[in-house]
Amino acid sequence: DPRIAKIASSIRVIPDFPKPGIMFQDITTLLLDTEAFKDTIALFVDRYKDKGISVVAGVEARGFIFGPPIALAIGAKFVPMRKPKKLPGTFLFLPLVACDFDIKLHERSQLGSWKVISEEYSLEYGTDTIEMHVGAVEPGERAIIIDDLIATGGTLAAAIRLLERVGVKIVECACVIELPELKGKEKLGETSLFVLVKSA
Ligand code: IMP
Repeated sequence: DPRIAKIASSIRVIPDFPKPGIMFQDITTLLLDTEAFKDTIALFVDRYKDKGISVVAGVEARGFIFGPPIALAIGAKFVPMRKPKKLPGTFLFLPLVACDFDIKLHERSQLGSWKVISEEYSLEYGTDTIEMHVGAVEPGERAIIIDDLIATGGTLAAAIRLLERVGVKIVECACVIELPELKGKEKLGETSLFVLVKSA
């Protein structure tokens, strides 16, 4: 597809950001290129329309850029998966394997406020966490998870666990860029990965 090469060339690579030795793939230049941005969204929309997908889950922060236009175009809702303590819902402990009963019982507090569940994942040094409002999705819904880039796969693996805990079926993970050398795909288990651009 000739659109892919144009998308790839619109991504700027910044050496030594945010620290020495990292070649940072910067998608802000893709966003400035109106053709490349439109084609990026169109490629995802073509792939996911008419697949019975009702949830587009986007990972903070750049999943919040690509997710919403895809969600609107395929008639799905957009669910943000956020960094810790950003969502207003109150924290909820859910067992690792949640059943329908747990969800219905815990979905909303007596005041009607939404609950937050979180999933921790490892980084090179230390850990990070993503969070989601439980009430945003129903067990049995079909979702895709969107982010700009997959590196080690830790972030998307945590996003998969979070949605699976509340009974959502992950149809696929989708990224603009994959760094295949880091073998992130292997962390996603059974869940398939779709990427537009592979980068060294
Ligand atoms: P992973 O968990 O190691 O797969 O890292 C993926 C996460 O780190 C995603 O949320 C990306 O947005 C972010 N990330 C890692 N490297 C880059 C990069 O070179 N450009 C943009 N985002 C990156």
